[in-house]
Amino acid sequence: MILPITQFGESILRRKGREVETFDDDLQALAQNMVETMEEAEGVGLAAQQIGLPLRLFVVDVGMLPDDELDYSLDGRHPPVELIMPMAVVNPRLHTGGGQPLVDEEGCLSFPGIRGEVPRAPSVILEYQDLDGAPHTLEAGGWFARVLQHEYDHVEGVLFIDRMETRQLRLLDTKIKRLKRANRDRGTGKPA
Ligand SMILES: [Zn+2]
Repeated sequence: MILPITQFGESILRRKGREVETFDDDLQALAQNMVETMEEAEGVGLAAQQIGLPLRLFVVDVGMLPDDELDYSLDGRHPPVELIMPMAVVNPRLHTGGGQPLVDEEGCLSFPGIRGEVPRAPSVILEYQDLDGAPHTLEAGGWFARVLQHEYDHVEGVLFIDRMETRQLRLLDTKIKRLKRANRDRGTGKPA
């Protein structure tokens, strides 16, 4: 089922997610709907806040790249990307690696028509649970690490514009304000 995607200005995007405690069929169905919604919108990630739920949950799919172009290890191995994507990430904890931040352009499904440069840590370690509650450790670098940082921020109520440098924000200022005004009064959530 395709769900409506919340837009910048709706207060749900600023809500920190609460821990998922029940790993049941409802959670499976929710994650499935999020994957369908992400695919329909041609995104590479979607967080629960973006469909109106304040949960520590996001889905990603970086499977459009071959796995030899993706820098990752899952539980110490490098399983083929098509086996692990799309991926549901529950109750994540993210640790960013050291090194110079890498700057690259990002978009966000909650900011239609807005793209900008965002500095991100070059590598991450993500601890999370899958939809059965089993714990995993995902290490990623480069573009995959960027996607994970963007989605992790969403479950913390943080948005990519918060990470942009002032110079970049100034260039987008009018578009961002227009979007915020358009969505401010749309309420705090959507039906689950
Ligand atoms: Zn986003």
